[in-house]
Amino acid sequence: MVLRSLCAALVLLVVSAAPAAAAFTPGATGAGDPFFPQAGNGGYEVRHYSLKLDYEPQNEQLDGTAEISARATQDLSSFNLDLVGFKVGSVTVDGSAASFSRKGQELTITPSEGLRRNRDFSVTVVYAGHANYILDPDKSKDGWIPTDDGAFVVNEPQGSPTWFPANDTPKDFATYDFAITVPEGRTALANGVLVSKTDNGDTTTWRWREDSPMVTYLTTATNGVFDLREGTIAGLPEYNAVDPNTRLFGQKSPNPDLAWSRLAVQPEALEFLINLYGPYPFDSIGAIVDYAPNVFYSLESQSKPNYWVIPSEDTIVHELAHMWFGDAVVLERWPDMWLNEGFATWSEWIWNEHKGVKSAAQQFDDLYDTPEDSADGQDLWFPAPNELADASELFHTPVYDRGAMTLQALREKVGEDTFLTIVRSWYAENRHSNVTTADFIALAERVSGEDLGDFFQAWLFEEGKPESW
Ligand SMILES: [Zn+2]
Repeated sequence: MVLRSLCAALVLLVVSAAPAAAAFTPGATGAGDPFFPQAGNGGYEVRHYSLKLDYEPQNEQLDGTAEISARATQDLSSFNLDLVGFKVGSVTVDGSAASFSRKGQELTITPSEGLRRNRDFSVTVVYAGHANYILDPDKSKDGWIPTDDGAFVVNEPQGSPTWFPANDTPKDFATYDFAITVPEGRTALANGVLVSKTDNGDTTTWRWREDSPMVTYLTTATNGVFDLREGTIAGLPEYNAVDPNTRLFGQKSPNPDLAWSRLAVQPEALEFLINLYGPYPFDSIGAIVDYAPNVFYSLESQSKPNYWVIPSEDTIVHELAHMWFGDAVVLERWPDMWLNEGFATWSEWIWNEHKGVKSAAQQFDDLYDTPEDSADGQDLWFPAPNELADASELFHTPVYDRGAMTLQALREKVGEDTFLTIVRSWYAENRHSNVTTADFIALAERVSGEDLGDFFQAWLFEEGKPESW
């Protein structure tokens, strides 16, 4: 916020000192996230991405054409997209050649004429090169991650620009079309529904469409050898894809049958989560079980979570719960990550309570017994979930477990009915929009009628084991 008002002040200065024609100004080079200041851009909002991708796994070569429909939110002289790697062949704006330059992840595009505020425009970027992931601050791989037979494509928090030019911020929702061409015999998956599959001889083009609003980090284009099975759950088109080579973490032998039997929990889990939180937010559902042995995490890609190995039942419930909390209700700033992971982890606990395995209260008590001065306690109680020092802590234990404990402690404090009203309202009021921790606290106080300032201070903002709340 400080950074933004400073930018605004600078723009005003420039405008007041220059002639009227200078009212067209460059869009901001970042969306201002505290952890990823260069991610995303300013001056426009994307409405739709149409991505044509041609991938040759044997040499990891990706040729892409991105057609992006957007609307200017200021009088723009130039604007940026985020793109990592590749050679950009051409850029057009509304069909006319535009000049462009590159610096770091910023692709700066200068159309032949300025773009007026509120004007719709389209930009087409043609690019090609060696596709590759980036390493996140916590050293995990993010983006287009080549596998033996294709690529495992997961983008949280900053992988999307490794495979398409993007306004890479969780604040910009858009719809998507994908046309992904891969060698014959391989399957390309993406978010949403399968539109068509075209046999080109040596290659196959898979077209997918996601009509629900989606932010960039939830996109996917995972591809390789897959057994893709289509079905229906709860009236929704269902697409489950299992790599015949997938296996449990650490196992030498593939076991796709086990993957299929694990995925069989989805209908019951979906019904449970719908009853708990409200209607499923998207028009399709499914799962991708790949074998991506160097990735070490699964991700809640919208409508099709990506699993790097065969997932546990808890992990399937976790990623499904993210469809409500993470994918439909989307964090506005990365430091509020507990809003994603705390809800998804608590969803595992309430699922296990529902199944008679262990109550969420017992799960809370077991964790609460962790002494602060033990190694596990240092891991669990530091830092506070909403006081992460930097992006390297985004996926640390407190974000998950202490985030879930915050919700369970809230459940016990305000009572079952009030708690359920809070979480259902959180979803119903914020579906397909951005939220902050402050929004959640305000909603919990409004619904409960209680002052919860000290409660959330103890659970979310004070490092160390909370002693009273
Ligand atoms: Zn998660």
